[in-house]
Amino acid sequence: MSKEDLLVLKKEVETCTRCDLHKTRTNVVFGEGSANARIMLCGEAPGYWEDQKGRPFVGNAGKFLDELLSIAGLKREEVFIANILKCRPPGNREPRPEEIELCTSFLNKQIKIIKPRIICTLGNYATSYILEKYGFKSDSMGKIHGKVFRVSNLSTQLKIIPMYHPATALYKPYMKEVIKRDWKLIKEELK
Ligand code: SF4
Repeated sequence: MSKEDLLVLKKEVETCTRCDLHKTRTNVVFGEGSANARIMLCGEAPGYWEDQKGRPFVGNAGKFLDELLSIAGLKREEVFIANILKCRPPGNREPRPEEIELCTSFLNKQIKIIKPRIICTLGNYATSYILEKYGFKSDSMGKIHGKVFRVSNLSTQLKIIPMYHPATALYKPYMKEVIKRDWKLIKEELK
């Protein structure tokens, strides 16, 4: 799989009308970054600014994400940032089960093309989806943040690391240090 495969997929997602979110979106947010990224970040869904710009994590949570990436010794262009849903739920409501079911085949294809060594899940929705996809039982973020779940079989060598969503630090500033500590872990895991 190659960069070209990712571009073909992007074109397909940009015209997607599988669920009702296509009616209210301004832009599809496919995700961005390196097609050869060792680490993939997976968030929940585009918010207001992401929908406006068609890019992931460009609001205040995105600024904090940039800080977290630098703690892990990473730059945006070295990772691939995606979401569970590619279109914004109106008013930033939570994703609905049917939307997740319809949209995640795109995320699965992104993972297949990029083949990351680490998937860092940002927030509850991404964590539940990715852990369950690889046969793990999800739990509350308070219990599993910063833990490393290892997938090792003939076709896949992968570490999954659940993280709090960066936006958590915006409405709970006391969580900032907890989140930063978790990101130091990624630096270790990438060695
Ligand atoms: Fe298609 Fe996903 Fe957007 Fe729904 S959220 S319209 S499934 S790209």
